Amino acid sequence: MNIQSLSVCVPAKKCINDCSFCCSKMHSADYEDRFSGISNYYEYSEDIKKRIEYARENGCNTCMLTGNNEPQQNKDFLKIFSEINRSIKYPFLNIEMQTTGALIDDDYLDFLKTSVGITTIAISVACLDDSGRNIEMINTPDKNLDIATLCNSIKKRNINLRLCLNMNDDILINNPFTVESIISVCKNLGADQITFRALWAPDYQSEQGQWVKDHVTAKTTDLISDLKKDIVKNGKYLDTLEYGSDRYDYYDFSVVIDDDSMSQNENKTAVKYLILRPNGHLYSKWDSKASLIF
Ligand code: SF4
Repeated sequence: MNIQSLSVCVPAKKCINDCSFCCSKMHSADYEDRFSGISNYYEYSEDIKKRIEYARENGCNTCMLTGNNEPQQNKDFLKIFSEINRSIKYPFLNIEMQTTGALIDDDYLDFLKTSVGITTIAISVACLDDSGRNIEMINTPDKNLDIATLCNSIKKRNINLRLCLNMNDDILINNPFTVESIISVCKNLGADQITFRALWAPDYQSEQGQWVKDHVTAKTTDLISDLKKDIVKNGKYLDTLEYGSDRYDYYDFSVVIDDDSMSQNENKTAVKYLILRPNGHLYSKWDSKASLIF
């Protein structure tokens, strides 16, 4: 089985943000939070340990801390995860965290690096060049969230910085809407890697899906198409990730275009993600409880 990453869903009651394009809100996510209701810590941590070991034994090298909320909302879980990971024979060394950066200050970054072992922080951004517009689109209570300051603090700690661009019509509003501008803004922010994320809208009606339909117009799809052409033309092919996305060296960035962030493509035989849910079980699809592995 080819596994690109183990996504560990950090439990929390409700996300502090309310991103306009949040895909977690577009499908049900009623997995029991057995962490918050821990009655038997030993049993729960053994459940998680088994799944983490299973991922490692099946060749998975990357662990991504994520969830239907911000991972930084649950520091206690992050501590327990780290204890468990360090206790297995071959711990994950490459540990990433997906976040908008809300409420992460310097002390929290130190905790993430030294206590949790985070090696890459993937900042999810909806507007690259105007923090005010970014805050508006992710509806975060952290009104001081400033992408440039956060990126600078991450780089100062020698943590890899990935910018995950939620591609929409406002990804740039103060700069020309071009490939060159995106590259230049990402360079200025000190990014090591960029993921261009095609936002997902389901077939059924939902508020977030409608937002995506309204804010991902031809303006954005044309830019994504220009990017793809330019990456293939001017980038250097590096490798193909287990699930099939090609990775390129593009102006010294490692670049991937993720057209299938929900792992919907039925033609791929490899498993893209393993997902460890707050109930302590492993799944292979974000939107299917039937994808339970064990
Ligand atoms: S931070 Fe993630 S989970 Fe929270 S609202 Fe935004 S997209 Fe959804």
